Amino acid sequence: MLARLPSTQPPCVLIVDDDEVDRRFVQRAVRNQFVFLEADNELLAISLIRTHTPDCVLLDYHIPGANAMAILEACVQSYIPMVVLSGVGNETIAAEAIKSGATDYLPKTMLSQASLTRAITNAIEKGILERLLHEKQQELETFVATAAHDLKAPLRTVVTQCQLAQLLTQETLEPEAQQALATAIMAANSLFDLVQNLLDYTESGRSTKPFEPVDLETLARQVVADLDTIISDSDALVEIAPLPTIQGDATGLRQLLQNLIGNALKFQNHERPHVQVTAVQEEAWWQIRVSDNGIGIEPEVQKQIFQPLTRLHAASAYEGSGLGLAICNKIAHLHQGTIRVESALGRGSTFVLNLPATATSEG
Ligand code: ADP
Repeated sequence: MLARLPSTQPPCVLIVDDDEVDRRFVQRAVRNQFVFLEADNELLAISLIRTHTPDCVLLDYHIPGANAMAILEACVQSYIPMVVLSGVGNETIAAEAIKSGATDYLPKTMLSQASLTRAITNAIEKGILERLLHEKQQELETFVATAAHDLKAPLRTVVTQCQLAQLLTQETLEPEAQQALATAIMAANSLFDLVQNLLDYTESGRSTKPFEPVDLETLARQVVADLDTIISDSDALVEIAPLPTIQGDATGLRQLLQNLIGNALKFQNHERPHVQVTAVQEEAWWQIRVSDNGIGIEPEVQKQIFQPLTRLHAASAYEGSGLGLAICNKIAHLHQGTIRVESALGRGSTFVLNLPATATSEG
């Protein structure tokens, strides 16, 4: 996606409000500065966000029958800034919206030319910066993908040649030299795994295959079967509730479930790890929840863990590369969905995946 830089065209603002009087009021207040699109319901709003990519969305958070969060998520995915309009006494809801990615909020009682102009202009500027940042991240990812790809073959050679040297010299080499060789092989293997994980990260969420029906329950059961050794070694209980079939990319969704269930089993200090995978449908969305009774995550860092290479623990405590959840995040976005965590330190974690019941591939 290209960042939209300032142009001579007035910026385009989508007003999402079921009340026509309110929509007119906003347009009259700031009519010469912006061009407007209007939506009075959730589906039209999401469709206009995807097709017209407005520069800013103004959302009345209380449209009857609409899932404001779904509209907000559509904005977040397209890097479109959103200003939430809320009624009196709804400050908590507004704060929640900001936490979930809205740029700003304005109480409806304080709407004026000055407040609207300021909020919309600030939001648009922030949106431009975020899109530029996103583009830079994309460039960086391309660089990482190329570097990881080029590193893989020589690294594989280092591992195999060291293993060969180990084999050829096992009778003759001093114990210290043997130990040094074994340590070098171990380090080269970890480096190889990291490079492979980096490649997986850059490749994840990029599938161009058309979406197909994917039975999430079958996928989850396959993942659990693959983790059989870890499950029986830790005496874990893994429960899979009935899960839906959705349109999606089977390889990506399998990787996503594998990362979430794998983490739920890994970040544990409980005598008997307990992992549950459940699903509920909320209007046009499926919510898939992967819960554990593990070590939990402090609220302050819950957003960071979806960024690449973020780990909260030393590799000596829990091994890993810090890329698993970043991969999950990309796969959720590929399905026009979102992922977040609900957790408290020492109280287990629930990873919540929201997927549209009728996702379509963009590839
Ligand atoms: P990795 O598992 O390779 O370290 P991830 O990207 O999967 O990387 O996770 C990032 C970090 O988030 C982990 O290092 C861990 O600190 C935290 N984390 C992930 N899943 C859980 C969980 N179920 N319970 C507690 N912490 C978790």
